[in-house]
Amino acid sequence: MRARELGFDLCGIAPAAAFRELGVLREWLDRGYAGEMGYMARTAERRADVRAVMPSARSVVVLGTLYNTDQPYSTEVDDPGEALISRYAWGDDYHDVLGERTDALRGWLVNQHAGSVETRVYVDTGPVQERVYAQQAGLGWVGKNTCLINPVLGSWLFLSEILCSLPLESDTPGFDQCGTCTLCLDACPTDAFPEPGVLDSTRCLSYLTIETKGAIPPEQRVGIGTHVYGCDVCQDVCPYNDAAPISTDPAWQPRMLLDRPRLGELWSRSDAALRAAIRNGPMTRARVKRVRRNLAVALGNSGEISAAEALETASETSRPDAPSIAEPLVAEHIDWARHRLASRNLLRSTKRR
Ligand code: SF4
Ligand code: SF4
Repeated sequence: MRARELGFDLCGIAPAAAFRELGVLREWLDRGYAGEMGYMARTAERRADVRAVMPSARSVVVLGTLYNTDQPYSTEVDDPGEALISRYAWGDDYHDVLGERTDALRGWLVNQHAGSVETRVYVDTGPVQERVYAQQAGLGWVGKNTCLINPVLGSWLFLSEILCSLPLESDTPGFDQCGTCTLCLDACPTDAFPEPGVLDSTRCLSYLTIETKGAIPPEQRVGIGTHVYGCDVCQDVCPYNDAAPISTDPAWQPRMLLDRPRLGELWSRSDAALRAAIRNGPMTRARVKRVRRNLAVALGNSGEISAAEALETASETSRPDAPSIAEPLVAEHIDWARHRLASRNLLRSTKRR
């Protein structure tokens, strides 16, 4: 009840135990599926059991917050000039928003009990395999697309957790309801699932556009299509999201510049305008330089004439308001994009003006 008042859509409790699913991480790391995400290996020991980060933990309160908005799914967008940005990144930074709300619930929980209670809050920040605990807390199940799916709300859910030293009564774990469906596996544009429920991050567009700090491997750039930040395809096609409810929470509504933006429009914006658009949102993590890098690749893939025109004037002298395009990382991706457009006769010259 209190969780609902604070804006959460789901709340459940799991025991703080070493569930079998938590052990799968080690093998996943050994297969190299984490790519550049070295922090995953560094924290693997602690990720194996929440009691490694808080030895007194007896329970894990898991909270789910719906962030779906009234906008078409990326798979419904039939416009090569539209920049595809992951749904979760359109609004405010969920770490901040949910950090405050989860902490408010934590305070309430502590006040309900006499005596000392140890607690700790996590919002996708600490070494907690939150989807495993979410399933154990009855919020849903981890689907073949590796997302937590609730049978009623779907998978557009932010998760946050409170580790707690109290032995709270646990909920019944969720059970797998994917059945024989393979829609997400079949739809993935880069074949990033070596097997159901196992993601090779190094092939995933979310990893390539967000986690990759330097150059995106050239052989993987075409596969990025017009995805500028993240990818939602394996959630878009999930039948449990067909009728996912809409959240009216202002925190998750798209910011003006991120509301179905066009590639050329984003590209034409100054660095300062891009920085302002992503400030205090999840995309801040990528910074303007990487957003610009991703935009260059998407423009190259777009094939839309206005996208080609946008790249035609991509030089540091023509864009003093956008110094990021002169950064070696960005410039190299611009060159790649220009060659790609020229090879499709969409650009007159590969030389910059
Ligand atoms: S996010 Fe996109 S690229 Fe990554 S696994 Fe899902 S469909 Fe594939
Ligand atoms: S698309 Fe099908 S297989 Fe994939 S997560 Fe959804 S229900 Fe499961």
